[in-house]
Amino acid sequence: MKLVYKSEQRFSVNHLELQLNQLGIKTLIKNEFAGGAAGELSPIDVWPELWILEDTHEQLALKIVAEHEQNQQKGNDIDWFCRSCGEANGAQFELCWQCQTVRN
Ligand SMILES: [Zn+2]
Repeated sequence: MKLVYKSEQRFSVNHLELQLNQLGIKTLIKNEFAGGAAGELSPIDVWPELWILEDTHEQLALKIVAEHEQNQQKGNDIDWFCRSCGEANGAQFELCWQCQTVRN
């Protein structure tokens, strides 16, 4: 297993997971629900982390992550809320990461 991405924005991690899954890359998210229970850990330790299960996918996964980060620099932060489930999504995304409803 390899860690390929972490972000304080949960939707960003989830969206990346979706992209990798669509390419047939199996993933695991750690700390997904750790947000409210940071305790004594520093905040960065409980950011959601995206891991890939098979190391052979690392190169492709990192390429997708790099593209994702480039897009993030352009788009940035929360831009729209899903009309179906209410989740926050970034400007660069055309589908809701949660329920895959198309952006309005
Ligand atoms: Zn949604």
